[in-house]
Amino acid sequence: MKDSIGREITYLRLSVTDLCNLRCRYCMPEAGVQKRPHGEMLTQDEMVAAVRAAARLGVRKLRLTGGEPLVKPGIVDLCRRCAAVEGIEEVCLTTNGTLLPPLAEALREAGVSRVNISLDTLQPQRYRAITRRGELREALAGVESAVRAGFRQVKINAVLMGGVNDDEIPDLAELTRTLGVDVRFIELMPMVDGAFGPASFVPGTAVLRALPDLQEETADGGVARLYRLSGAAGRVGLISPVHDSFCHRCNRLRITADGMVKPCLHSAGEFPLKGLTEAEMAQQLRRAIDAKPVAHGDLTCGCISGAGRAMNEIGG
Ligand code: SAM
Ligand code: SF4
Repeated sequence: MKDSIGREITYLRLSVTDLCNLRCRYCMPEAGVQKRPHGEMLTQDEMVAAVRAAARLGVRKLRLTGGEPLVKPGIVDLCRRCAAVEGIEEVCLTTNGTLLPPLAEALREAGVSRVNISLDTLQPQRYRAITRRGELREALAGVESAVRAGFRQVKINAVLMGGVNDDEIPDLAELTRTLGVDVRFIELMPMVDGAFGPASFVPGTAVLRALPDLQEETADGGVARLYRLSGAAGRVGLISPVHDSFCHRCNRLRITADGMVKPCLHSAGEFPLKGLTEAEMAQQLRRAIDAKPVAHGDLTCGCISGAGRAMNEIGG
């Protein structure tokens, strides 16, 4: 289905939980989130109904995210049910990877075709500092398990933070050679008020300066601009929501774990799904598509996202 300015909405990101085993500084408060009563969150049946309703409106690609989707009981079953929905051509998953090793094969067999793993550093102490509790070796084991399980695609997502990990651009990009995975550098978005100073917001172009040998690729990378290091099987991607907004090409809808449809990550508008039938959900999704803003507000230094929620609730 097309929105009011002709953007075809084909991609749904579903946050299956707002809970997480990590506490990344750019995403979640240190104290975590107050666990909400089950009755306020979407049930698995409601999630599948929402995916079916979205597929009826033309959604073809589904990404399960969170919070951390792998802390969600029944995640493999949920993936299997979503992959079986008529019209859904791809089920993808975004994870911090730390809980992936025992689940990777089952997820692939359940129909997950692509996995994105968040990894901002290759240094154990930094990993612990950024995630406030994570162990790098567990995340790396997750990456290896994903590569071994044979997903169609495995990508690493690294959020760049000035003075924190921007000196690791070459080391992270090297994974496109050593592991053959795509590595995407993502601009830090101002979700958490006051958590980062102006120097933390590194533009995607810093990657081009750090890696002068990158060759631009012609392939369509969706929201990412794609490059390659010579001899690398994987590609380097730049995702620049702050300095190079892609609103005019945005084809996404989001659903939060408590069942709110968000037509735009950085805008406050939300449409509730909890307790609705599949047909009523389709109507709400249609309203959300009609209400999709042309563009979100300024995200550059000094501004804060208009999302009205933390990233772990929305799903990134
Ligand atoms: N827990 C999973 C993970 O970390 O991959 C999935 C949920 S997480 C919210 C999804 C993505 O959002 C991650 O790649 C994370 O790095 C990114 N993210 C969270 N907060 C962000 C921020 N303030 N700016 C840019 N990316 C952010
Ligand atoms: Fe958890 Fe992912 Fe947010 Fe980190 S980015 S706190 S792993 S939800």
